[in-house]
Amino acid sequence: MMQIGPKPRRKTPTVWVGPVPIGGDHPVVVQSMTNTDTADVEATANQVIELARAGSEIVRITVNHEEAAAAVPRIVERVRAAGFSTPLVGDFHYNGHVLLTRFPECARALDKYRINPGNVGTRQRDRNFAQIIEAALKYDKPVRIGVNWGSLDQQLLTELMDANARRPQPRSAREVVLEAMVESALRSARLAEELGMPHDRIVLSAKVSEVQDLIAVYRELAARCDYPLHLGLTEAGMGMKGIVASTAGLAVLLQEGIGDTIRVSLTPTPGGDRAEEVRVAQQILQSLGLRSFMPQVSSCPGCGRTASTFFQAMAREVQAYIQRRMPEWRQRYPGVEELKVAVMGCVVNGPGESRHADIGISLPGTFEEPTAPVYVDGEKYTTLRGDDVVPRFLEILEDYVARRFGGRGGAGAGRRTGA
Ligand code: SF4
Repeated sequence: MMQIGPKPRRKTPTVWVGPVPIGGDHPVVVQSMTNTDTADVEATANQVIELARAGSEIVRITVNHEEAAAAVPRIVERVRAAGFSTPLVGDFHYNGHVLLTRFPECARALDKYRINPGNVGTRQRDRNFAQIIEAALKYDKPVRIGVNWGSLDQQLLTELMDANARRPQPRSAREVVLEAMVESALRSARLAEELGMPHDRIVLSAKVSEVQDLIAVYRELAARCDYPLHLGLTEAGMGMKGIVASTAGLAVLLQEGIGDTIRVSLTPTPGGDRAEEVRVAQQILQSLGLRSFMPQVSSCPGCGRTASTFFQAMAREVQAYIQRRMPEWRQRYPGVEELKVAVMGCVVNGPGESRHADIGISLPGTFEEPTAPVYVDGEKYTTLRGDDVVPRFLEILEDYVARRFGGRGGAGAGRRTGA
């Protein structure tokens, strides 16, 4: 029998990050990270709000020095005052143990601490790590043990490299590095639990920058523990490369039921929109059918059979209209995120694709009669013609959303055909 959809998610405990659950039976969580100087309270709070508004359900901020740690409570205050309960995670490297001890208000204000076991010091490694765990216990916070191959625990790597050299058939250096990442995450989690950290307050991640390495390392982690996993391709890159590479890696794992929260680490263009990574993460989850965030517009690529400029402009206008209307639609019409719209270029696939959507329009191809049939719930609803096809289609769309999701008559009410 044909199997459609991802494998069931791997079983994990639920880790609560403020009001947001990660793992268990809860939906895969979208998260992101600021790139402002955390000591700049206004800039950081504004970016957290921007990311939260775009749909980031958890936001991580760098806490790298005393001024940053001192700023954290004020950032949280501003975000809450703006009406967002989005949990904030502190990203600590090298001096987390010092900052969390010296700045108790920072430790209290954060909802989770990220610890990189490769960056907690060398000689005092275990003591520094223990100090962070003690702060997490004292303030009742979960932790993410986040291994990154750019800052892998060198002591552990050397140990595993030596052990590998003694094998009759040594593995490749790349395999040993990935093995060291998994070991680092698991050993640190074990140490945290030995220090008293409850099992259900630990999330793991092991980020690499190559898709195949990402898939290999997370499959291994998933097989060897039941902690919720934070997925992400680190240093994914800019633009299309970053988006495609992140999608390729995350999609394979999510399809296998691996992954409880995701971040897409895109390098923004200078002055670019940081929230793009949130929209990409949402789109990955929605494309896989795991969550719904936004009505989906299907449009064909266009070809020689259609006047592609009009068709492209219409597809873009419909998409932009939906984006503009979503803040209000989301409030007034629960479930509207699942709406499917089609904007198609000609008769070849236009009527068929439009029938599969909740609402669709099939524009006339180059040599076709200049009419545009509109389909609603799989049936022909009306036919548009003339210069005002776009505004009239948007009116029909608005009306459909109100009827279908506004609880006034439900789907298909008021159906009519012909023109
Ligand atoms: S629906 Fe028509 S215009 Fe669009 S790609 Fe197919 S053949 Fe070309």
